[in-house]
Amino acid sequence: MDVLLIILIAVVLLVVVGGAFLLRGRGDDTDVLDRPASTEAGAVDEVTETVPVDVEPDVIEVEPEVITRPSFRDRLARARESLAGTLGSILSRGVDNQTWEELEEALIRADVGLPATMAILDRVREQAEADGQTDPDEVLRLLKAELTERLGGFDRSLARAETDPSVWLFVGVNGVGKTTTIGKLAKQQIDDGATVVVAAGDTFRAAAAEQLEMWADRSGASIVRGNEGGDPSAVVFDAVEHAAARSVDIVMADTAGRLHTKSNLMEELGKVRRVAEKGAGTVSEVLLVLDATTGQNGLTQVQQFTDAVDVTGVVLTKLDGSAKGGIVIAVQQELGIPVKLVGLGEGLGDLVPFDEHEFVDALFATDA
Ligand code: GDP
Repeated sequence: MDVLLIILIAVVLLVVVGGAFLLRGRGDDTDVLDRPASTEAGAVDEVTETVPVDVEPDVIEVEPEVITRPSFRDRLARARESLAGTLGSILSRGVDNQTWEELEEALIRADVGLPATMAILDRVREQAEADGQTDPDEVLRLLKAELTERLGGFDRSLARAETDPSVWLFVGVNGVGKTTTIGKLAKQQIDDGATVVVAAGDTFRAAAAEQLEMWADRSGASIVRGNEGGDPSAVVFDAVEHAAARSVDIVMADTAGRLHTKSNLMEELGKVRRVAEKGAGTVSEVLLVLDATTGQNGLTQVQQFTDAVDVTGVVLTKLDGSAKGGIVIAVQQELGIPVKLVGLGEGLGDLVPFDEHEFVDALFATDA
């Protein structure tokens, strides 16, 4: 009996001790799996995965960027919904006397401007009535044809001087997109084989030169900057000298854009223009950068800048965010200045030559 009891106790002890040992071993395994194994695996994964992810954006910025040009169709969705949508719904109700009034209102609201609106609709109505046309689709076709014709007939090429360096001045009020446009255009010109110096002529805004330097890096242009608060003309002059000494083709000069109501800004721009031609440079383009979302106020800006510096062309930025494509028509019709380039976004490639056919097609596209 005693022997049996001793054997029983020994068996119970063996079972208890063995079970505890097995449980500890399991516990250790679980710890290992949960902590070191997963942490180690995570750490490796993080290293191998994070490094390329971190490095990739840097590489994209440093290496020449691949440019994909956006199309008007892709980027004019807001204007299409607003202008073409309104015109479409007016015409869908049929064509009678009231239609013409409603069309007039819609075009004016889209910033086409009163004189251009009247001229366009007079012509379309005349044609429609001469043909006894009351079919909405046909009236819309006449309207599109009229818009395309009115927008056409301008030389939109960017002029180079007979002898380089050619100087392209960029003027316009603050925030319209001058610096961005210079960056985009420098990239295009460099891709086309030209050499470019950008001049940080906006010496009033501390961040302006830095911003331009960033764009110069991205586009591959060199940059000439002055001191903050320094003479903008001196910066442009130095940039022209720099370009002439190195046989650089084009100097793209940024200028300050404080409010156009300050008359000294206009005097200063006149001076920048004169000084830019004191040395070897010739100003062959004065591009007024205009924000498409500012509406009719933009027209006043064009007039004032033109008085000061003889604007040769307009760059219409932010058309991608504008619900009012009509400003293109107003600028060309009322001021006779061609819209040469259009900004369709914030990216390096988002600047395209204006094309009236693509523009009107995109505005009225039904399959976009
Ligand atoms: P600046 O003061 O005239 O030099 O204007 P900036 O070049 O600094 O541009 C002002 C802002 O407008 C920036 O945030 C740009 O990214 C933005 N911008 C410039 N052009 C365009 C464009 O075509 N479309 C859009 N959506 N934004 C633009």
